[in-house]
Amino acid sequence: MLKNTLLYTGKAKSVYTTDNPDLLILVFRDDASAFNGEKIAQLDRKGKVNNLFNAFIMEKLAEAGIETHFEKLINPSEVLVKRLDMIPVECVIRNYAAGSLCRRLGVEEGKVLTPPTFELFFKDDALGDPMVNESQSIALGWATAEQLEQMKVLTYQVNQVLTDLFEQGGMLLVDFKLEFGVFHDRIVLGDEFSPDGCRLWDKETKKKLDKDRFRQGLGDVVEAYEEVATRLGINLDSI
Ligand code: ADP
Ligand code: UDP
Repeated sequence: MLKNTLLYTGKAKSVYTTDNPDLLILVFRDDASAFNGEKIAQLDRKGKVNNLFNAFIMEKLAEAGIETHFEKLINPSEVLVKRLDMIPVECVIRNYAAGSLCRRLGVEEGKVLTPPTFELFFKDDALGDPMVNESQSIALGWATAEQLEQMKVLTYQVNQVLTDLFEQGGMLLVDFKLEFGVFHDRIVLGDEFSPDGCRLWDKETKKKLDKDRFRQGLGDVVEAYEEVATRLGINLDSI
């Protein structure tokens, strides 16, 4: 499958059309960004590590019966996916307090959230991805009530599958963000699941193994992503 036209250049991936109108190629780049694009850097190997990581996770989710856009790995930087009509609402589940929840509500980092919380954010860089609720998302035409309900159910299912998976690797899945889209009238998981879009802590030491290492200038960002991959048994020999 050959890359045709460049459709979109995002902050971390580039999106290309293919000969098949139902399929796209995503190219994972080494660009890292945080704080709504204020902090940027090139992190050697990040694109390839995230692409292989995402492929592994998407396959695990598919095995658990969750429909994803993943079709096949093309090479260590590129993946073939179904072309979705993306819903501009990000779904976030939190098992432990961190990040914006702590900043907004004054909660101590690491507080256990029972049951896990579910939040929606409007995907809009110019507005800084503001938090939104269900009725706003419906009234503004971003998604239907039925779609939002499906997205919520699917995000909780993903949480169950991945909490168990990371637990087996001695890690806590603190929180994560998912993006969904529509493919022939079905809600399908899109974008990526990688340490760029979730928080993972070592279970014992609480060492941060995710993008907070970049946000907080803790160093060894890609090394931490590789450690997570190795703990899950992901083979990174090809990169
Ligand atoms: P951002 O847009 O946040 O800067 P990326 O650099 O990751 O993010 O760019 C990838 C873009 O591709 C995102 O806008 C994402 O919503 C979109 N996307 C991801 N998967 C698909 C898909 N299967 N079909 C269409 N668009 C997708
Ligand atoms: N997240 C993301 N993209 C975004 C916003 C959040 O991948 O545009 C992820 C983030 O990595 C974390 C979770 O969603 O795993 C919750 O993020 P939070 O609301 O705490 O925001 P942050 O502190 O990252 O600004």
